[in-house]
Amino acid sequence: MEDVLVIGAGIFGLNIARKMRLAGRRVLVVDAAHSGAGASATPLGVLAPHAPDNWNPKKEAQFQALTSLPDYLAGLEDETGVGVGYARCGRLVPLTTENQRRAWERRLPDAVENWRGAATLELIERPDPTWVAQQAAPFGAARCGLSARIDARGYLAALAASAGDGLLDGMALERLEEGAAVFANGDRIAARLIVLATGAAAFAHLPDSDGEPAGRGEKGQAARMSVVGDVAARPIIYHDGTYVVPREGNEVAVGATSERYYDDATTTDALLDQKIERADALCSALTGARVIERWAAVRPRAADRALLVGRHPVLSGVSVATGGFKTGLAMAHMLDISALG
Ligand SMILES: Cc1cc2nc3c(=O)[nH]c(=O)nc-3n(C[C@H](O)[C@H](O)[C@H](O)COP(=O)(O)OP(=O)(O)OC[C@H]3O[C@@H](n4cnc5c(N)ncnc54)[C@H](O)[C@@H]3O)c2cc1C
Repeated sequence: MEDVLVIGAGIFGLNIARKMRLAGRRVLVVDAAHSGAGASATPLGVLAPHAPDNWNPKKEAQFQALTSLPDYLAGLEDETGVGVGYARCGRLVPLTTENQRRAWERRLPDAVENWRGAATLELIERPDPTWVAQQAAPFGAARCGLSARIDARGYLAALAASAGDGLLDGMALERLEEGAAVFANGDRIAARLIVLATGAAAFAHLPDSDGEPAGRGEKGQAARMSVVGDVAARPIIYHDGTYVVPREGNEVAVGATSERYYDDATTTDALLDQKIERADALCSALTGARVIERWAAVRPRAADRALLVGRHPVLSGVSVATGGFKTGLAMAHMLDISALG
């Protein structure tokens, strides 16, 4: 019998596995395809805080996650020798109306109070026009110093390296039983603890609560673009649901769409083209840029949009960890393994 069986080798499953191993447990991670086959391999890799006003426990948890992540990642890189491409690059929010500027102005003292010196929020009159398109920021920009970026695929590779031979591909979960999981290839693996971390696919293995599904998948699309010149030191640009994220190697990532209803989870379409157009209008460096990757996946969105981490409501010996939705990369290292049993 296995000690801990983690099903799903995304950012949630792999972080849980690592934390469990560091706590002295023996862990096997299995995945239907391979590590990074799901939403965690996003080209965006944005690590951005909620706005600093109207502070609440959710914002505090995210603040703790963002400020503790660099040390956690440094430990992971030291352990594995695999780089995760973390950079505290900041984020610019171009302001298009006087009202928007006033709203961000009102948040400045909230950032001082709630970010406690960890980073600053400031207003900029005129962002660098070689990065933020001049017409996109007629009222300047807000600069959030707490935002960062990560190479999500590097993060996954480092976690997979940490898992070593405790990671098995090609194991598609068919059904869960008390203390065991049955796979499409007919294998049945018994374990003292099973952790269901299959992202959006996890909800199918959970009962409805109050007549509603525990959560659902929401599709998203993003692109990687090749630009002229090194943009790695630039800040992220974010406006009205559109991200432009600088990457190493003369690249920029652009996204992301949100589709509640979709036929195919992995194809990209005109919605991504529109997103790229919007990004082009925000960022001068995208003029003439070439698309080098179009990517789509399904985000796990719990019914209340919160993380879903804890024991399975029906099956003993089974726990679940999903619900990262749009911020899973920042939160995954904070998952409380004591809640899983
Ligand atoms: C377009 C897009 C952009 C995003 N950008 C960001 C961002 O910039 N910053 C951020 O923080 N978050 C972002 N997210 C959200 C983030 O990707 C998720 O919050 C996070 O990746 C969820 O991690 P997970 O491990 O729960 O799920 P996943 O990464 O989806 O992992 C689930 C794993 O389970 C496996 N699996 C599925 N079914 C089975 C089965 N039956 N049996 C065995 N294994 C199975 C899959 O192969 C997969 O490897 C984005 C998501 C999308 C779609």
